[in-house]
Amino acid sequence: MASFSVRFLGCKVSHVDAHAVRERLLAGGHEERDGAADIAVVNTCCVTHEAVAKSRKEAARAARTHRRVYVTGCGANLAGDAFSGLPDNVVVVARRSEETPEFVAGDVGAIGCVQADARLDRVRAFVKVQDGCSFSCRFCVIPLVRGASRSRSAGAVLGEIRRRVREGHREVVLTGINLGCYRDRAAGYRLARLVREAGAIPGLERLRLSSIEINHVDEELVDALRETPTVSRHLHVPLQSGDDGVLQAMGRRYSTATYLRRLEPLREDFNLTSDVIVGFPTEDERAFENTLKVVAEAGLTKVHVFPYSPRPGTGTAAEDPVPPQVKRERSARLRAASHAACLAHWRSKVGRGDVVLVDRPGRGYGDDYSPWLVPAAAPVGELIGVRGASVSEEGILAA
Ligand code: SF4
Repeated sequence: MASFSVRFLGCKVSHVDAHAVRERLLAGGHEERDGAADIAVVNTCCVTHEAVAKSRKEAARAARTHRRVYVTGCGANLAGDAFSGLPDNVVVVARRSEETPEFVAGDVGAIGCVQADARLDRVRAFVKVQDGCSFSCRFCVIPLVRGASRSRSAGAVLGEIRRRVREGHREVVLTGINLGCYRDRAAGYRLARLVREAGAIPGLERLRLSSIEINHVDEELVDALRETPTVSRHLHVPLQSGDDGVLQAMGRRYSTATYLRRLEPLREDFNLTSDVIVGFPTEDERAFENTLKVVAEAGLTKVHVFPYSPRPGTGTAAEDPVPPQVKRERSARLRAASHAACLAHWRSKVGRGDVVLVDRPGRGYGDDYSPWLVPAAAPVGELIGVRGASVSEEGILAA
């Protein structure tokens, strides 16, 4: 039996993949530890240059405190030498996410005789329903490292959600690289049907989608979100740019008018969040100002801002004309606008009731995934009724 620790960098899919390796090692009788251990697994990210640098740093740090380090995930599958030159105890696992847990467990070796306590996060479970992407956004390295879109069977997904609910999870987040591409053709499922059936699983309190492309926000899905009582009033819809010329240069296959029109039915009562890339090669000041306008017009609250960095093997790998200080300045302006929108959204909840899933001492998320600050004694893992008293820089203060 070996002791191990698992870390992930990046998105919720990376989280799920790291969790799959962790569960496989636990099932093999290995023991999870917080500090130094025999084995470290670092599930990496490569979505920006900075993400790769952080992943490499994490692997190097782990190599000092662990006998062997497995570098897995998107960064490990990136062409080139992102992890070369690290100590000999670092093993780069350039494999698809479906194969990685078995490979790592096999390499770690001998199966122990006791089943370790899973110590699972019992509040929120991320359930991967789909992986890969068959789109070809010109800046994006994800299709190169994760391959084409593929889906799990609906039976496997629904079975996993039932298991998570039995384990005590209150919330499930359906997760994928391009979630709207979800298909189980043999059983006749698209995402909308999966949402309806997942949301109806007895004992599940809350269901959320991790992220969805605007092209997949159609009437069928909106109806499923509205008509499934457990579905959280939150949707994360990447915008990437609010300028039609930039969107076209990115190969995003929608216009700002489409983005706004498709979100219109949700604007009133959903908390809409997004991702934006700042400093894309064709983004000038006017194009950036268009992004600020669309962010406001769409009613977006939290915007995750990604300063553009060219990724190897992509359509824009050789293009990066926007100076770093311009990217920094635009990023700061967009983050400030997003923070102001969050504060305004939170203020609208003062004096109103909500149900908060407490996920850490003193903190949790309301029905639309707005952050709440609750009494420190509120039990972690429980849903509690609250009323908004005031707003701080970090969320809504419960009365
Ligand atoms: S939709 Fe575009 S940005 Fe998203 S993973 Fe696919 S190629 Fe990348």
